Amino acid sequence: MTNRNQNVYNFNAGPSALPTAVLEKAQQELTNFQGTGMSVMELSHRSKTYEDVHNGAISRLKKLYNISDEYEVVFLQGGASLQFSMIPMNFLTEEQKAGYIMTGSWSEKAFTETKFFGEAYHVASSKEDQYRSIPEISANTFNDNDAYIHLTSNNTIYGTQWQSFPDTAEVPLIVDMSSDIMSKPIDVNKFAMIYAGAQKNLGPSGVTVAIIRKDLLEKANKNIPSMLSYQTYVDKNSLYNTPPTFGIYMLGEVLKWIELQGGLSAIAKLNEEKASYIYDAIDNSDGFYTGHAEKNSRSLMNITFRVQNEELEKKFLAEAVDKGFVGLNGHRSVGGCRASTYNAVPQEACLALSEFMKEFQQKNS
Ligand SMILES: *Cc1c(COP(=O)(O)O)cnc(C)c1O
Repeated sequence: MTNRNQNVYNFNAGPSALPTAVLEKAQQELTNFQGTGMSVMELSHRSKTYEDVHNGAISRLKKLYNISDEYEVVFLQGGASLQFSMIPMNFLTEEQKAGYIMTGSWSEKAFTETKFFGEAYHVASSKEDQYRSIPEISANTFNDNDAYIHLTSNNTIYGTQWQSFPDTAEVPLIVDMSSDIMSKPIDVNKFAMIYAGAQKNLGPSGVTVAIIRKDLLEKANKNIPSMLSYQTYVDKNSLYNTPPTFGIYMLGEVLKWIELQGGLSAIAKLNEEKASYIYDAIDNSDGFYTGHAEKNSRSLMNITFRVQNEELEKKFLAEAVDKGFVGLNGHRSVGGCRASTYNAVPQEACLALSEFMKEFQQKNS
């Protein structure tokens, strides 16, 4: 029996909605996991029972993304934000530079951390147009000798998303996929490394996933602290120290739920439909609502828009709260409105929001 309030539509940007079925299963198992008489949280991380949870989550990730043996999958802590430092610490060398493609606040934060470790530069940037678009990348915008190229696949704050990824040839491509990981099928082989904080599409906060190609790992700096070296996590199957066991359990359950939805193709189709309800409400509003992102760069995960004027925008956001829509305020750095429509946000919520947007427009124009 669920006591989840059916009248709440959660559009939070992160942490964000989790599938109700997953929360209910966790609730059911909370005090007695698989007949152990203990919660998952109370199990030793060295026990067989936990090990199965841990390895199950890793193998589901590998299966859903078709990850080959060329890659290692590890669980880290410190959020995607710690990866901003760990990446240059592990992979930036004295002889090379790192290229960063700037598409928003998270790219900026990632770039800022490189200064402690070596030289980095901007490959391209859409800052001049307020990060409304994804820049064009060609082979002569980066150097063949770069240590790596870094990009943010989905820009959570500005609401843009890469529609296809640039070919960086021999230069390793490293992607922050925090806000669109597992939202659609991808070809992992295009990337040297993918990383993501779990709290948008994969589970609760506290776990970070990294998928790293072995040839990149081989080149990694060996002269760094154990907890900051990817190799430690690989060598110890992410069990060098105590991992966030409950978060990893939840992540495994979210992946099972994705499988039950029909896998990533089915999830992608749903995500397209969900976003289209809201984008249609924007596009058919005769300018009452305006989207922040250029149409060809629009995100299916974070839909950013403004209401005609500031007074109406305040009214819109206040009425939305009364109607049970949670988390529609834009990020504090950009303002406006943002609906985050991650995997676990149900279709009904997106339909309800598009209906509310149309009604609000009718009443106020
Ligand atoms: C949320 C987010 C982050 C930050 O994640 P933390 O886990 O809070 O460090 C980084 N990059 C992107 C794209 C995000 O959406």
